[in-house]
Amino acid sequence: SSVNPQTKAWQDISQKHHLAPFSDYKDLRPRIITKAKGVYLWDSEGQKILDGMAGLWCTALGYGREELVEAASRQMRELPFYNTFFKTAHPPVLELARTIAEITPGNLNHLFFTGGGSEGNDTMLRLVRHYWASKGMPEKQIIISRKNAYHGSTVAGASLGGMKPMHEQGGLPIPGIVHIAQPYWFAEGGDLDEETFGIQVADELEKKIQALGENKIAAFIAEPIQGAGGVIVPPASYWPRIREILAKYDILFVADEVICGFGRTGEWFGSDYYGNQPDLMTIAKGLTSGYVPMGGLVVSDKVYQQIKEVGDFNHGFTYSGHPVAAAVALENIRILREENIVETVKTQTAPYFQKRLRELCAHPLVGEVRGVGLLGAIELVKDKASRTRYPEAQAVGMMCREHCFNNGLVMRAVGDTMIIAPPLVISKTEVDELVEKATLCLDLTQKQLGA
Ligand code: PLP
Repeated sequence: SSVNPQTKAWQDISQKHHLAPFSDYKDLRPRIITKAKGVYLWDSEGQKILDGMAGLWCTALGYGREELVEAASRQMRELPFYNTFFKTAHPPVLELARTIAEITPGNLNHLFFTGGGSEGNDTMLRLVRHYWASKGMPEKQIIISRKNAYHGSTVAGASLGGMKPMHEQGGLPIPGIVHIAQPYWFAEGGDLDEETFGIQVADELEKKIQALGENKIAAFIAEPIQGAGGVIVPPASYWPRIREILAKYDILFVADEVICGFGRTGEWFGSDYYGNQPDLMTIAKGLTSGYVPMGGLVVSDKVYQQIKEVGDFNHGFTYSGHPVAAAVALENIRILREENIVETVKTQTAPYFQKRLRELCAHPLVGEVRGVGLLGAIELVKDKASRTRYPEAQAVGMMCREHCFNNGLVMRAVGDTMIIAPPLVISKTEVDELVEKATLCLDLTQKQLGA
């Protein structure tokens, strides 16, 4: 399709010079996003687009919050950078550490800051292995993760993740990381009812521990709800069984809260939603509403007490606890608290969003709609009853994603699963618009399939 000359010029630059993440390098001519406000984006063709993905699961407060801009510029004037390496710190990083400790569940009271979620998971891997070694158990090295999980793109992050196409590039995973099944009933549950399937998948954890030897297992990492894997909401039986198994063996529980954290489920953290009490938690994205990059690892009292005995942890990033990012995160959390946003998601927006989204179940192309809080997934199928998908080559998910973009809606496609995660501040009227547009795009996809 033809675009205006300015768009064309930007696309040419992109093709010549910009290697975008997870992109087809044969065609790097992107849609150019030029501005945003509230839950809407605008592109260089002047199209207004409802952002059903909150950027990349991160713009919790939506776009254009002046307070965050002010917090960043104030901090840039006062102290734009200083490191936290030389036995030095600054007020924003300290205030932020205390604030996060207040809102995280249980005894998660100690913060190691990073530039994003991937670095948070790398930090976790080194800290967990260091923890066991410091207890005189250096053989406890293996981290168990799950197939199809996404935990980032650094070497450790991508190894912890369970995405095959990522492992195939660069010789991953690194040693000492193994993957068990995901609780993805829709795709893998077969004839089992959801709860039986949940137990069966959770029991794989115990089988893996026994097969490898419990004295070798350092930690288990999982998202409360697997996000980039396809918003895989586990059956209710899953987490209680996992908790039982982790309690039985001496294994650390790591929650990757990069997507679920900061209100996405209607609780502060996905671990709160499921009543899980992890020993470590990685955070990013909603921490700053994505306005500036920042992530972190939250460490429990138990883990902290042990590593304190050893002293040094030889690890850190130039931008660990960056003052500008910390100032923005503090302001972001202040707004989330003062405007009661997490509670509003729980009591108002999420029930409405989940109800409206489930109306799409009636659509002939839809095999399942699921979700928690402001996370949603729509499974596209050829046959509802047997949960049969269209052949992969037809790329139905991407087809639907294109119809969405062309009609002013961002929905992400993970295979043939359409993903929705709007900003937490979305209104009910905007939810209505989202569902209307999604319905139109499902219709257009179906029409294109000739079904
Ligand atoms: N963990 C999860 C669950 C994620 O979804 C992501 C990013 O999408 C990451 C980790 C990696 O975070 P980042 O891209 O900030 O490094």
